[in-house]
Amino acid sequence: MTTLIHTAFGKVLSLIFPDRCVGCNKYGGLFCENCINKTRFSPRSKVSVLFLDKLIHWGIYENEILSKALRDFKYRGAIGFAEIFSDMLAKLVEPDIEKLRKNTIILAIPASKSRKKSRGYNQTELLAEKFFKKTSLPYFSDVLIKSRNTISQTSLAGRERLFNQKDSFSIAKPEKVKNKKIILVDDILTTGATLSEAARVLKEAGALEVTGLVVAK
Ligand SMILES: [Zn+2]
Repeated sequence: MTTLIHTAFGKVLSLIFPDRCVGCNKYGGLFCENCINKTRFSPRSKVSVLFLDKLIHWGIYENEILSKALRDFKYRGAIGFAEIFSDMLAKLVEPDIEKLRKNTIILAIPASKSRKKSRGYNQTELLAEKFFKKTSLPYFSDVLIKSRNTISQTSLAGRERLFNQKDSFSIAKPEKVKNKKIILVDDILTTGATLSEAARVLKEAGALEVTGLVVAK
């Protein structure tokens, strides 16, 4: 059923989003190889987010092409980007994949039910599902739960974002995360308040290690 809705939804969206590159406007796909390569930000800057052991990111939000693609994906229904962004994430973990197979699971930052309903989809879940298909690491969509609605983070300043996220997540099946290493998928890291709060409840439930994996920071 979900696939059916996705397909019908996808057809409507492909009318809104013609087959043109978000960066150079060339026909033939949402994001051409050449423009994708321009979004890769190599120097691994150290990012410290409370409760997060590691942060891995493909690019930076200051990159105009990447930020436009992410906005189209998140707010304008261009769900085809899930395929491209998940490719980026899969490439990032590829060197470590054998090690990850031993004890790592994938979780996604959930959206509140009302937000998912108004938007029709949760872009982060789409991203995590595709990422799971490419890596075959175990993925659970029913473990990290949004337990309280929060105000959209974009309207808040740094300190307010932390308070806004406090106690907004819960763990539905603690046995799935206990003694596991977690890859926590999100589209964008801004202040880190969301990932930090999710990592906190995961650690509380016994997770060994939490790595944030995002498209841009
Ligand atoms: Zn292009």
